[in-house]
Amino acid sequence: MIPFEKAYEIVMGSAPRLGAERVDIEHVLNRILAEDVKSDMDMPPFNKSAMDGYACRRQDLGNELTVVETIQAGQIPAKSVGRSQCAKIMTGAMIPKGADCVIMVELTDQPTPGTVRFTGTARGSLPGQKDTENNICYMGEDVNEGDIVLRKGARITEKHIAVLASVGCVEPCVTRRPKVGIIATGNELVEPKIKPGISQIRNSNSHQLCAQVVSVGAISKYYGIVEDREESIDSMLKKAMGQNDVVLISGGVSVGEFDLVPDILRKNNFRLLFEKIAIKPGMPTIFGVSDEIYCFGLPGNPVSTFVIFELLVKPFLYKMMGHDFEPVSMPMRLDKTISRKKTKRASWLPVAVKEGRGVMPIEYHGSAHVSALCGANGLICVPVGVSEIAEGTIVDVRQI
Ligand code: AMP
Ligand code: MG
Repeated sequence: MIPFEKAYEIVMGSAPRLGAERVDIEHVLNRILAEDVKSDMDMPPFNKSAMDGYACRRQDLGNELTVVETIQAGQIPAKSVGRSQCAKIMTGAMIPKGADCVIMVELTDQPTPGTVRFTGTARGSLPGQKDTENNICYMGEDVNEGDIVLRKGARITEKHIAVLASVGCVEPCVTRRPKVGIIATGNELVEPKIKPGISQIRNSNSHQLCAQVVSVGAISKYYGIVEDREESIDSMLKKAMGQNDVVLISGGVSVGEFDLVPDILRKNNFRLLFEKIAIKPGMPTIFGVSDEIYCFGLPGNPVSTFVIFELLVKPFLYKMMGHDFEPVSMPMRLDKTISRKKTKRASWLPVAVKEGRGVMPIEYHGSAHVSALCGANGLICVPVGVSEIAEGTIVDVRQI
């Protein structure tokens, strides 16, 4: 049994790097950038109005202003603005020469047709006052031409799409998505659409694993349930090995008489880099490497597979794609004492974070209690050697 930190180091140290490909912006959500993205222009590309109003000279704010033209967004101003003049201007339109501020339309009146007057507070009255601001977005104030707007290794989320679009990066270079084959072992398993007979249960973890694989931007391929028989597991494993970069095989990895997976992996030339981690849930997790195929053998219970995927498989898949995964973790006050007798393993427990309050452990009966995860939005760790974490302690809550 090795400490989790060691297992993590082994897994991350084994992760191969996948190649890259160009993908249309419509399909790059959740992909990992394989190269920096630079801006091909200043942003904003010209001084533009932040308001609908009148562009004029700040020193003329006290004067009645003659309107010289109307400037729409997308139009090049025809005139420059001189003394006691202004141009009616729309949000997003170019500021005309001569003007250094825009008066909001709401802060004007019209003494005579074709003129306007500023009705706001006089210039310089109160610092930070809205109606004394210039209301101009200046050329290049957000980004300059040649600036790196997104870094290699970044995961593209919704908020990055507009950035890609605005710099004209319509086919970003992203890393290839790992193909992940998923196999469930267990004579007791039936697919979820079937009502289990006496002594049977539904295969829940494969479908959960598929979803977890998809959520990191990898490609999942489900191979179905195989019975706890050497030939069945072996042939399915061979099939999955031929079609994937990574194989996740659940169940049959422990020390029971029908836990055949470790030996089958060895027979298929996998080097098993570990076979047990000092963690709960998920102790009998195995990790094997063979000719560029990587296999995680995960204990069958769905909470174990969920947690081990989250802690080990997810960072591994991201690393293959060139992304350093950093879990979102926040210090919070524990609202109820946690205690345990055995302290040899690091224990991960589901918790609920309450807005504005602390964090509360969720009723949890062990690694088969999959519904406990539904009410949880975080996991906390009770480290090796620790038997109690007292109420009021600040704990790191890892978001799930
Ligand atoms: P095993 O790792 O094969 O010893 O299985 C450990 C526990 O997880 C047993 O109670 C199994 O019935 C259960 N289990 C195994 N595979 C699955 C699965 N795919 N979905 C849900 N539970 C499972
Ligand atoms: Mg089993």
